[in-house]
Amino acid sequence: MVDWERIYKLLDDITPLAVDCGRLCGAACCTEWEQGAGVYLLPGEEGMFSGLEEWLAREERSIGEYGFRPGSKSRSYIIRCNGTCPRERRPFACRTFPVTPYLSPEGKFELRLDEAAVLLCPLVKAGDIKILEKRFLMRTRLAWEELLREPQIRKIIEWKSRQIDIMERDPWRKLLELS
Ligand code: SF4
Ligand code: SF4
Repeated sequence: MVDWERIYKLLDDITPLAVDCGRLCGAACCTEWEQGAGVYLLPGEEGMFSGLEEWLAREERSIGEYGFRPGSKSRSYIIRCNGTCPRERRPFACRTFPVTPYLSPEGKFELRLDEAAVLLCPLVKAGDIKILEKRFLMRTRLAWEELLREPQIRKIIEWKSRQIDIMERDPWRKLLELS
């Protein structure tokens, strides 16, 4: 069982860069979500929100609707914020953006830049995870190592990693890299 309070605490005071990267982009990740998008919560994380917070709307969704484990009957949650939140209550995905976990087919874990956010985030566009703060990467890794012990979360990340593999083999992507 994940100790979500502990995970949140681990990531309380970290930021991707030593300076406020929101100045690079006008805090795009808090203000430029596509209409209808929201912040995914991992299984069990919904317990960190009462649903009564004024700054968010919590919605229950079928996991399949959001691309996680198609066909799963499990339910999952997203939250929609209005672009501001009490920093100490921000969800896990916001604490660790713009990195995402990746599990190789052999089960080797690594952190990668979240390429799905390449049009949104200048740090992803820069294409080098090493520009991010060591402390941010270290804490994010620690958090994911703990989360991946939870079978339901691990399955989601395995599935997402295979989607990343498919995306990387996409011939259009190769053309874009050459251009
Ligand atoms: S979009 Fe990227 S650079 Fe901008 S605030 Fe978010 S993490 Fe920082
Ligand atoms: S919950 Fe907070 S950190 Fe996350 S997108 Fe909304 S305002 Fe930004």
